[in-house]
Amino acid sequence: MTQFDFDIGIIGGGPAGASMASYLAKAGLSCVVLERELFPRPHVGESFVPASTRVFKEIGFLEKIDQAGFPKKYGGAWTTNGKGAVYTDSWEGLTADCNVNVRFEEREQPGVDRNYTFHVDRAKFDLMLLQHAHELGATVYEGIRVQNVDFSEPGQPRIHFGMGSKDFHLNVRMIVDASGRRTLLGNQLKLRIHDTIFDQYAIHTWFEGYDRRVLAKNASLDDYIFVHHLPLPNSWVWQIPITETITSIGVVTQNKYFAKSKQERENFFWQCLESRPELAAELRIAKQLRPLADEGNYSYAMKQICGDNFILVGDAARFVDPIFSTGVSIALNSSRFASADIIRAAQTGDFSKQSFNTFESTLRRGTKNWYDFITVYYRLNALFTAFVQDERYRLDVIKLLQGDVYDDDDPPVLRKMQNIVSQVEQNKDHVWHHYLGELTGNAFAPAY
Ligand SMILES: Cc1cc2nc3c(=O)[nH]c(=O)nc-3n(C[C@H](O)[C@H](O)[C@H](O)COP(=O)(O)OP(=O)(O)OC[C@H]3O[C@@H](n4cnc5c(N)ncnc54)[C@H](O)[C@@H]3O)c2cc1C
Repeated sequence: MTQFDFDIGIIGGGPAGASMASYLAKAGLSCVVLERELFPRPHVGESFVPASTRVFKEIGFLEKIDQAGFPKKYGGAWTTNGKGAVYTDSWEGLTADCNVNVRFEEREQPGVDRNYTFHVDRAKFDLMLLQHAHELGATVYEGIRVQNVDFSEPGQPRIHFGMGSKDFHLNVRMIVDASGRRTLLGNQLKLRIHDTIFDQYAIHTWFEGYDRRVLAKNASLDDYIFVHHLPLPNSWVWQIPITETITSIGVVTQNKYFAKSKQERENFFWQCLESRPELAAELRIAKQLRPLADEGNYSYAMKQICGDNFILVGDAARFVDPIFSTGVSIALNSSRFASADIIRAAQTGDFSKQSFNTFESTLRRGTKNWYDFITVYYRLNALFTAFVQDERYRLDVIKLLQGDVYDDDDPPVLRKMQNIVSQVEQNKDHVWHHYLGELTGNAFAPAY
């Protein structure tokens, strides 16, 4: 009879892996997290949405994150400087305007008892969350890179990894792949499908001493995430407070603008910023703290997100454009839904694919809603800004921005937006027709 080393083997100790380990350890399952890096390590994805709070609360992490001193995030703001996308035309009572903001507390969010979430230094946050999982009873090994998982013995996956020149393995009842955009199982099982529509690329760094008020204009928005639109199509800059004095700045643009050499990328980053002169001027006098880092080709789906004895969570399951700062929330919530199915499976001893149906349908529903929302955002940004400002739709849009996307198969506000987009596409004389963006012209949410 097989000796199992652990019930569950979790590959990756980022937010998805660490929250999964926390849920499982709390439920009394034996689990091991294998993480290739030694934490703390830097990571992109520094601004959260409030749907994360539910997970922090359930795994007993809320107090710790509250006391860690991360900047509180009360909302989000979008700006333009008048070049490129400027919306002047109103239509049927809807007024588009590029400079908008939302405050999370405008909509009461079930299960979320505070009006803020956080911006974080991911090195510090990810370490804290992984330590939390360990304190709850999960075994954590850092500096271990999983090479592959052997599924050849039914019901007995075996995780292979190397240490020094030696190969080792662990026998577990099931695998959770939380390896992020490295998508270990997605690659091994050939599940990954590149998203050719959201073919985006990002380049980013941290600045010390950048005066965030310059573009915020309004002191009460200082700690919001800012998305500054650039005159280049589908391109924007994120501005995320990391500490009182440090700000994360990243340029997101289409992959086709991706510059090959480091020098070209550096020039490109500054050229983009120069298209927002006030922003560039402030950043030039601030101190750049890190070399520029870049992330390319990052959007994809998976043909399957679970199977017999395995589940994919977080970025290992799916990645959609980061425009609404949702990645960490999706990672945490995917582990929330998946852990409930895994705990039930452990009770019945049935780790076959059908045991993970609830997780699968819930995550697919959520990511489809995200995909549709982001598609509409890029296709007709004027409409997004008009809906944000219109009291008939504002709270429904805020619900999506809060990260509450999992409970509704067909959110009416999204259907309404999609219908308007179709009308605008079909009518060349529509006052908004010339606002249509090209990026998501052919986009549809894949069925997987
Ligand atoms: C440009 C950009 C901007 C973003 N901005 C935001 C944002 O503002 N807000 C937000 O919420 N999200 C943002 N995201 C998304 C966010 O970074 C991710 O969604 C989030 O980190 C996912 O967490 P995860 O645990 O699934 O993966 P990760 O955080 O990537 O963790 C995966 C872990 O697995 C480990 N690993 C990988 N392979 C192996 C292996 N073979 N063996 C062992 N360990 C392994 C890695 O070392 C890593 O620590 C952004 C993403 C991009 C690309």
